[in-house]
Amino acid sequence: MRSCKFWLLCLLLLGAGLAFAQVPLLVIEFLDVGQGDALLITAPNGKRILIDAGPNDAPTVELLRQRGVKALDLFVTSHNDADHIGQAAEVILAFDIKRYLDQGEGCEKTTRTFGDVLDALVQRMVPVLEPSPRPFTVPSNQGPTLTITILPLPDPRILDNGVCDSNNNSVPVRIDYGEFSLFTAGDAGFPEINWFLNQYPEEQLDVDVLKVLHHGSRNNTNTRFLQRVTPEVAVISVGCGNPFGHPHQQALQLLADTGAQVYRTDLQGTVTITTDGVDYWVATQRSLSVCTALPSPTTDLRVNLNTATQAELEALPGIGPVLARRIIENRPYSSVDDLLRVSGIGPATLERLRPLVRVN
Ligand SMILES: [Zn+2]
Repeated sequence: MRSCKFWLLCLLLLGAGLAFAQVPLLVIEFLDVGQGDALLITAPNGKRILIDAGPNDAPTVELLRQRGVKALDLFVTSHNDADHIGQAAEVILAFDIKRYLDQGEGCEKTTRTFGDVLDALVQRMVPVLEPSPRPFTVPSNQGPTLTITILPLPDPRILDNGVCDSNNNSVPVRIDYGEFSLFTAGDAGFPEINWFLNQYPEEQLDVDVLKVLHHGSRNNTNTRFLQRVTPEVAVISVGCGNPFGHPHQQALQLLADTGAQVYRTDLQGTVTITTDGVDYWVATQRSLSVCTALPSPTTDLRVNLNTATQAELEALPGIGPVLARRIIENRPYSSVDDLLRVSGIGPATLERLRPLVRVN
């Protein structure tokens, strides 16, 4: 797949091409909704698909109206965290939603935001689909067929303290249009990413464009994953001055090492990808700006391996009383990787614990 690097020239060529022939184009917009995700897909025949709705204070409905949206053929929410479903109820009430697909049974939340989404779905009698693997296809007259594929979710569910781990059961979606492809999976972290890497055929994750997982957190991008995806373009949907420090420098470095061209909604506003199924073009709402808002202070909630109590360690997923005692006996730790010294902790457990622990 060719990405068009000199996009001004590409747009001119595209314009010239359009003047002579009706080239069916697919448009994918990473809407600037602040700290959250909202991905609007406009098929060549005008059908619209939305993946995630942005956080509670996002102008999602207004952004969709500005683009002439009246109905959504499919509305997918990757998972039930507020930065992805914050505006979902408003979207459901404002537009004609043909089908809604979410994380499904077992991952419900007790939050007000999630309750509002359920109420809106009932009020508007929207058909709700389980996230079973399946393709949704949108044919176009002269161009390729757009395929939105819901990929398999971890089975069984990845749990956190015995309940559905919202981030790590994010709905994975692959978009194909001719030779163009894109992968997105909400805030999937290493446990879910490792499941993808182990379960999916090699080529299933190999795409042109990656929606960077979890707003560029260090816990959601690693070399093994990027080597499989080999993205030419990586888009980070992230809010300026967010309290999490997203995107993290480590993730940016890994993306740079991969050779991906990185776009960020905090610096460039809405990022738009247009493709005819052969080439694709990336345009941004504004040229690169600097995010000057200072991150608001945040408390590091990760468990310190060198000072945590037995009870705090037992609260970690997969750590019972025996392993917690062994972790204490093996102190001190100079890095999280030192956990491999602990008998009973292997690489899989280490990866599961990595986002949740620290050493100082
Ligand atoms: Zn998120």
